[in-house]
Amino acid sequence: MRFNPKARLDRGRVKDTGQGRRGGGGPGSGGARMPIPGGVGGGVGGIVVLLIVVVGGLLLGVDIPGLTGGSDYSTSRVSDAADTGRYDDCKTGEDANESQDCARVAVENSLTDFWGGELGDGFQPEDELVTFSGSVDTACGAATSAVGPFYCPGDNTIYLDTTFFDEVLERQLGGPDGGFVEFYVLAHEYGHHIQNITGQMGKVKTQQGPQSGAVRLELQADCYAGMWARDATTTEDSQGEVLISDLTQADIKLAIEAAEAVGDDRIQEKTQGQVNEESWTHGSAAMREKWFLVGYEQGSLSACDTFAAKRV
Ligand SMILES: [Zn+2]
Repeated sequence: MRFNPKARLDRGRVKDTGQGRRGGGGPGSGGARMPIPGGVGGGVGGIVVLLIVVVGGLLLGVDIPGLTGGSDYSTSRVSDAADTGRYDDCKTGEDANESQDCARVAVENSLTDFWGGELGDGFQPEDELVTFSGSVDTACGAATSAVGPFYCPGDNTIYLDTTFFDEVLERQLGGPDGGFVEFYVLAHEYGHHIQNITGQMGKVKTQQGPQSGAVRLELQADCYAGMWARDATTTEDSQGEVLISDLTQADIKLAIEAAEAVGDDRIQEKTQGQVNEESWTHGSAAMREKWFLVGYEQGSLSACDTFAAKRV
């Protein structure tokens, strides 16, 4: 993947909070990583829900309408926390060619441009894309890196611990390594934002199982990621510049491999040694590959209407 060196980047929505800030503790004190199933003991309500999402559904969650509404959650905005300045030097496509951090900003910009064109007046960008380390407070509750990247509808924000890709996706789940893996994930999470503003999220009535609403929502986000990938090299920014100059078949292959690696069946095999369809929340490797490719090959919102499909 290459970026047009002349294109200008918009860093306005992209922030980094550094080490997690949990209520009550001093800076860094909340940054301890909670092992995935650890911490469950004594937890009630939303905390347990969060951890079930982590263990059962794991990665790339919405995550999740069920997490919102807990009155015990802090609703303080991440933007209230200091920004570390991680992205301050990300100014042009040239910078994006030099650094994965700046490439993240560029991909966020490309997604915003793409969906702005696709939805027109009905579009608004996400409030923020926040990178963090350890843990983070969100309107959907406190989350740790173990959750994986997620979108919180309560604050219209995508949260991403960038160590996830090496430490969890690659090392624990045997997924692929490469710059574009992260950008498939980012495009998937951006897809959840699109679902939030277009009302698709409200169509989820069933939470588990291969044909459930939850799975259809996740597969639609994969399909939306494919839509963006299809048009990424022709999407223009507000200056009329194409930001992404090159997206290769190797990039697309990485996206598909990443989608497969986070399939529910793959995760269950790795973490439980067996597959149980009835607890699926995101779809199998094959389903995730299929729907990414539907978006990539057909490139339309109607083709990505997983809720209308008889079977997904
Ligand atoms: Zn998701």
